Amino acid sequence: MSIIALNKWIPNLKKPLVVAGPCSAESEEQMLTTARELVQIEDVRIFRAGIWKPRTRPNNFEGHGEVALPWLKTVKEETGLLTATEVANAGHVELALKYGVDILWIGARTTVNPFSVQEIADALRGTNIPVMIKNPINVDLALWLGAIERLEAVGLKKLVAIHRGFSVAEKSRYRNEPMWKLPIELKRRLPEMPLICDPSHITGRRDMILEVSQKALDIDMDGLMIETHPNPDAAWSDASQQVTPEMLNQIIKSLSLRTEFSSDRNLEHELEILRSRIDRFDNELIEVLANRMKIVSEIGELKKKGQITAFQVHRMDQMLKAREDSALKLGLAKKYIDEVFNIIHDESVRHQTKILNSFNEDPK
Ligand code: PEP
Ligand code: MN
Repeated sequence: MSIIALNKWIPNLKKPLVVAGPCSAESEEQMLTTARELVQIEDVRIFRAGIWKPRTRPNNFEGHGEVALPWLKTVKEETGLLTATEVANAGHVELALKYGVDILWIGARTTVNPFSVQEIADALRGTNIPVMIKNPINVDLALWLGAIERLEAVGLKKLVAIHRGFSVAEKSRYRNEPMWKLPIELKRRLPEMPLICDPSHITGRRDMILEVSQKALDIDMDGLMIETHPNPDAAWSDASQQVTPEMLNQIIKSLSLRTEFSSDRNLEHELEILRSRIDRFDNELIEVLANRMKIVSEIGELKKKGQITAFQVHRMDQMLKAREDSALKLGLAKKYIDEVFNIIHDESVRHQTKILNSFNEDPK
């Protein structure tokens, strides 16, 4: 993978990179008012505005389209901010390139569709324009990786992933569930890929943006995309999640910026000692799990002899309840222990099913 680092194409970049601007481009006036304030905020380097808006239901504002492209150009000329907009097909790409938009992004509703992503990639072949790829709406890391691979395959190297949360069936306090495990896994698989968080679409509400932004920085994400509007409540789309440039400034000022390493040698040394203790515990855990599995095998042999099923729902319930009780006494969260033991139990059942169905032993 040959992704170009953010600071190679954004001069004098400091962390976090902030992408800000309205959900939708409503008028030239709205864009310029917003951009003039945003350019005063040091971390804001990219101005975003949706020109083609994918709306869940028809008869909502679907963006001004081509007429709004010169407005982005004016923002760039007046403020020097880099400009970005969403593209969902080859026609959008062609127009965005024609009007000199600096950066494109692929929205969550497009990342889910390999045909659309491929169409965009083909339209971008031969350019070296930066592209930001939002995670797909549904919880599917492969689709996100797939979209990145399609863009890489046409030679694009200035790529950025955007974590904007996932749509799930259960209601929660988020508009889109963050499911932090997924962006973390993306980072693990593609360590060079810049990754930014979009707390606006994750939360759907402006009072939760700071909390989610901090969490994103705490897992070492490179930046934030935050929807900003001069009069958020009057916005034509996503009104409840947009903030004024002034609120954005406050949010950025309130963030604690932590780094992956400390310059304090003693602190790094203390960390190392604690980490080696963790390593030791982890190895013990693995040994315990291996010993547990030996007993699981013995039980499997007995079940085979007695023609007993590998999975017994009562045993599972009893076991989980007992583990939860022990864990609670030691101050561990119920949900955590539930997840751990579900994984352990699933693997035991899988192992025993194999034993029950092994036919190469004496059939008696
Ligand atoms: C947006 O950024 O305005 C947008 C439509 O986002 P998403 O694709 O994440 O829903
Ligand atoms: Mn939006």
